[in-house]
Amino acid sequence: MDQKELIPIAIPNLEGNELKYVTDCIKTSWISSKGGYITKFEENFSSYCGTNHGVAVSNGTVALHLALTALGIGPGDEVIVPSLTFIASANSVSYCGAKPVFVDVDIHTWNMNPEEIEKAISPNTKAIMPVHLYGNPCDMKSIKEIADKYKLFIIEDAAEAHGAIFGNKKVGTFSDISCFSFFGNKVITTGEGGMCLTNDLELDKKMRVLRDHGMSKERKYWHEVLGFNYRMTNLQAAVGVAQLERIDEFLESKKQIAEWYRKYLSTLTNVRFQRQYLGAESIWWMTSIMFDYLYFDRDKLISYLHENGIDARPVFSLIHEMPHHKKESIMPIAKKISRNSLSLPSFVGLTEDKVRFICEKISLFLDKNKTGFS
Ligand SMILES: *Cc1c(COP(=O)(O)O)cnc(C)c1O
Repeated sequence: MDQKELIPIAIPNLEGNELKYVTDCIKTSWISSKGGYITKFEENFSSYCGTNHGVAVSNGTVALHLALTALGIGPGDEVIVPSLTFIASANSVSYCGAKPVFVDVDIHTWNMNPEEIEKAISPNTKAIMPVHLYGNPCDMKSIKEIADKYKLFIIEDAAEAHGAIFGNKKVGTFSDISCFSFFGNKVITTGEGGMCLTNDLELDKKMRVLRDHGMSKERKYWHEVLGFNYRMTNLQAAVGVAQLERIDEFLESKKQIAEWYRKYLSTLTNVRFQRQYLGAESIWWMTSIMFDYLYFDRDKLISYLHENGIDARPVFSLIHEMPHHKKESIMPIAKKISRNSLSLPSFVGLTEDKVRFICEKISLFLDKNKTGFS
């Protein structure tokens, strides 16, 4: 079946002021990395999340690299990262010449387990990188306590969790620097794009210099440090400003979709959803389900859904099993989640009828593959 005919996992919703603001950029010729929308997007997004500063960059991966670099992470240092996450979390650590140290996750939330973090700390540990997987907040209280106890930095990978809440604060406010992505499938998008948030004015200044070739703010073409070109364009920021105007509506739709999946899959005792830590509010960026017992081939279910016009994909593979990050460690929980789970269509505007249809197809597949369990 043609990919276009599938009910997609994610599609951007660009029905607000995106075209108007982009047109403004083009008409005024402010299309590169200077212009009013960049400052506006930085101010609006950081104040939406609740931090003093925001530094817009060209994608979420470089946001992580910029954050680690600004915190001085380099060769010989270790950063604790979950093995169950998107590859960029770990790669950004390797880009600095530092070593990602992988930990297992919690079976209920799918997020890095604080007990495992403490076990992974060595004299070389410099930072912890919690990832709010699929929009579900990590246990930031325990992680903060560990970071304080061992004097470690926290870099939050909040690429999937815009607007998620822990306690009475939004994620992105629990760390030295937090990083967001605005890729096309994220909660709000700028096509490609990212942002680093911080409350620390010095880190904000450092990141602005590093983002722009390490160039001195006082002296043009004088480069004080090894920097990068990680700038966001005004065109991208214009889309971001328009997207952010509608974030509440987007989050409401995702919450509703997550509830429908729970309702229509509730009779399947083998299906597990991510659970939230006490006081956490996931945004259910992408509804993903885990089968407690895998008595069938998960990838056959994905193919079956594709044949029925539904896009679905496996959850992330374990990073410590990939060739360039290979470690011998066994992470039984992350492994179970990674092998037994899949992500389902969760785009803004997905209707209840379609969710019911998707759930019926999943039930039908399970019926056809019944085994001896009662
Ligand atoms: C999307 C994502 C990133 C990287 O963002 P890009 O904008 O695609 O570079 C990093 N971490 C996680 C967990 C992500 O989901």
